[in-house]
Amino acid sequence: MIKNYDNWIKRSCLKINNIYNELDDLDQKVGDGDHGTTILKGLTKAEKVFKENIKNSLDEIMLIVAKEMRIVMGGSSGILMSIFFYESGKINPDNISLSIVTIFQNTVNKIKKTGKVSIGDKSILDVYVPVLDYLNTSIKIDKNLESINKIITNSSESTMNMEAKVGRAKFLEKKGLGIIDPGAYSTSIILKEFFNSIYK
Ligand SMILES: [Mg+2]
Repeated sequence: MIKNYDNWIKRSCLKINNIYNELDDLDQKVGDGDHGTTILKGLTKAEKVFKENIKNSLDEIMLIVAKEMRIVMGGSSGILMSIFFYESGKINPDNISLSIVTIFQNTVNKIKKTGKVSIGDKSILDVYVPVLDYLNTSIKIDKNLESINKIITNSSESTMNMEAKVGRAKFLEKKGLGIIDPGAYSTSIILKEFFNSIYK
């Protein structure tokens, strides 16, 4: 599982590296314009820290990864986006499907509580909740990699039609309507790589 997770973080970093300018441009319209740069910084750190701690157990590695991401990213995006990385360390190789449901459930609960955010507020929660709902109804994710990728893409794109109730975008006249939430977009990339690294 450590090899899968190593791949997950490396590939996420690579993918984000290719589009971080696009994410900054999106964030220019709804936030302070640095989301791409910030998440790239977080993942670059995550990749480095993972490598340095590869001899540890996976939950220990992911605890450090999440902590370092939170520090290097700073702000609310650092706090909220590192939650999944921390929770993901609790995967059970003997029951991957069930433990992934728990990981997503705990991530959703923590994001709601810490971020004081609800579904439909135009945030990363709008990606995590549909994925959790899907996982709860689908027993064999390994057979449905294509479906899960589609759910992730659709939920991230659905934030385009939402008015922001959290973050800087809520102060804009159109509340970010018509613009995909940059955090939801980067989260969609990270989650696709997570599932692909585990099940492909
Ligand atoms: Mg920012």
